[in-house]
Amino acid sequence: MGQITLSGVTKRFGDVEVIPPLDLQIGDGEFVVFVGPSGCGKSTLLRLIAGLEDTSAGHISIDGRDATGLPPAKRGLAMVFQSYALYPHMTVRKNIAFPLRMAGMDKAEQDRRVEAAAKVLNLSSYLDRRPGQLSGGQRQRVAIGRAIVREPAAFLFDEPLSNLDAALRVGMRMEISELHEKLRTTMIYVTHDQVEAMTMADKIVVLNAGRIEQVGSPLELYRAPRNTFVAGFIGSPK
Ligand code: ADP
Ligand code: MG
Repeated sequence: MGQITLSGVTKRFGDVEVIPPLDLQIGDGEFVVFVGPSGCGKSTLLRLIAGLEDTSAGHISIDGRDATGLPPAKRGLAMVFQSYALYPHMTVRKNIAFPLRMAGMDKAEQDRRVEAAAKVLNLSSYLDRRPGQLSGGQRQRVAIGRAIVREPAAFLFDEPLSNLDAALRVGMRMEISELHEKLRTTMIYVTHDQVEAMTMADKIVVLNAGRIEQVGSPLELYRAPRNTFVAGFIGSPK
């Protein structure tokens, strides 16, 4: 579960080709980071995988199944949004259960999943609070909890920490890495921050103007950057 293959995936907005035909394989359980400068197409690529944007050409398969035309809810993936997407008037429990309630899931199963997610995220004693009564880090964990309860094949993160202050960001980075250790579910994480990419990734995909410059482990990219763009971005001399 969590194997994602992109073949010739292309995205045009009007006449502008934001993603030229692109191939990429993401393996089961990998922590993959899309990194690159602002405007290089990271969010667009993630949104194509999530089904929030239609591909202009090419195919996306998820666990061997063609997902190209499927709506987001049918892809079995969960996008983790920034914590400000929480409902302030709902308890933590209700916020986390929200996607399950929308899907009409049995209440006992909702409770089971919410409590299991809260345990993994150390939120068990906060389930009856409201987001306003939580710290920034706890709020971000609630947003992650909302993804966990769906038991997705992969988690998709789009710069989830960019509205947190620097100290909190470092802590949350570690928490997300620990979560990956615990769940071993595929995660695709978008960031423009090289440090985040180098510390969190099993595999880094370096993007530049919608093209993949290089794919490799942090060590591979550091030791053998393919070109000056990658070298400059990863910060090692070429
Ligand atoms: P990143 O996330 O790496 O900052 P984006 O994927 O948001 O980059 O954007 C890549 C390019 O696509 C940018 O030039 C952006 O202006 C353009 N773009 C993104 N979304 C749209 C859209 N809905 N319509 C037109 N252009 C878009
Ligand atoms: Mg973006």
